Amino acid sequence: MSRFVRSKLLVQKYGGSSVATPEHIRNVADRIIACQAEARHMVVAVSAMGKTTDQLIGMANQVSRHPAGREMDQLLACGETIAVSLLSLALQDRGVPAVSLTAAQCGIRTDGSFNKARIANVETGRLVHELESGRVVIVAGFQGVTSDHEVTTLGRGGGDITGAALAAALQAPVCEICTDVDGVYTADPNAVEGARMVPELSYEEAIELAASGAKVLHPRAAEICMQYDVPIHVRSTFHRRQGTWIRGGVMENAAVVGITSDKKIAKVTLLEVRDEPGLAAAIFRDLAREDVNVRLIIQAAPSHDRNRITFVTDNDQVDRIEELARTWRKKKIVGEVQVDLDVAKIAIVGSRIASTPGLAARMFTALAKVGVNIDCISTSEMKVSCVITRSDLDNAVRAVHGEFFGTARPAAPRATTPTRRPSTSRPARKVAAKPATTASKRRSAR
Ligand code: ADP
Ligand code: ASP
Ligand code: MG
Repeated sequence: MSRFVRSKLLVQKYGGSSVATPEHIRNVADRIIACQAEARHMVVAVSAMGKTTDQLIGMANQVSRHPAGREMDQLLACGETIAVSLLSLALQDRGVPAVSLTAAQCGIRTDGSFNKARIANVETGRLVHELESGRVVIVAGFQGVTSDHEVTTLGRGGGDITGAALAAALQAPVCEICTDVDGVYTADPNAVEGARMVPELSYEEAIELAASGAKVLHPRAAEICMQYDVPIHVRSTFHRRQGTWIRGGVMENAAVVGITSDKKIAKVTLLEVRDEPGLAAAIFRDLAREDVNVRLIIQAAPSHDRNRITFVTDNDQVDRIEELARTWRKKKIVGEVQVDLDVAKIAIVGSRIASTPGLAARMFTALAKVGVNIDCISTSEMKVSCVITRSDLDNAVRAVHGEFFGTARPAAPRATTPTRRPSTSRPARKVAAKPATTASKRRSAR
């Protein structure tokens, strides 16, 4: 038995690309052993291997037209369960006592919202017991369990949330997010070659970057760590150099800390909306009831007692919107509903965006110089975002990144396999995101 001492605890999370193959898993086991030299206790959250979650979703789509809900979570959680068992086996094979735990075994309690559950609390009893017994605790990321013993998942990329929740519940001195890039960059380093790593970010900057498309960290993970005052260290799985620290008390970063992009959006335009009090309320109440995530709303000034309302949402929510559109048309609330999937969003993010004049103008000028037309604009305290045509996105990101951070060229391919020695290997290259199957369609919902 070794008494649990919080200050000697290291919580790490390894993402899917870090455990993509058995060779990757052996390397992660070696890395954990190397980290044990500095930490007495280790709790490690792990994602499903490589593209396992996508493959499971693909299979579900082959047997069901709308796979969702309980069975989907039951299925998707399996990916993480496989990964934790393998990592625990690899550690035991190296003579290191380790135990793998599912979310249910670990006590990660969530609400009952399948596919997007939120963590209510993490019971630390079993975790502390295992740590005091001298075991490395390997926890399945992304999973949760309800008070009725149902398995839930936290939403795509939710492994980060598990890592953060474990670190917060155990009051760990740090939550390490170990991934396939060296840290948080000024733009996706796999898309923009000139992107630079940012050594330090405030929680707010990290949340805004993550929420507007920087996939390297889940915004809810940063929110949890901000709430519980746990610093996050986003770093590479493949070497031990410092990455990006996210913590409180960061004084003055540049006004713009990063450029983000998001291809998984849809633009919805409601034409000929009756200009009457309460109709916008009814429309957005319907959207909220259907759990449609609305991210930007623009209403044009009315003409002939009719309004035009445009909003941006996630591209996987258009089926629900089209369903609602039918009822709105039937009730004569709107004339026509257009859904545009041929769009993408680009944003500049920083904590001093609102207080620094001229940033939006610089962004728009950079876009104009490369002939990119802006469809919609929205601004907030910490970001300026523009909806543009999807095929313009790569060009737009390079141009805007060049304006704020210097010249950038398309990224060159990188190695995908780690070497046996974590300290010398290169980060694996992320395969460029595939366009959504529904992309480049413009359609009118009838
Ligand atoms: P993991 O499997 O470790 O969870 P993810 O694929 O979820 O990793 O996130 C890492 C990826 O995030 C990187 O490979 C990179 O392409 C992408 N990314 C997007 N924006 C950024 C950014 N600003 N900084 C770093 N990586 C980013
Ligand atoms: N495996 C889950 C996903 O692919 C969770 C994660 O990787 O963080 O979304
Ligand atoms: Mg991730």
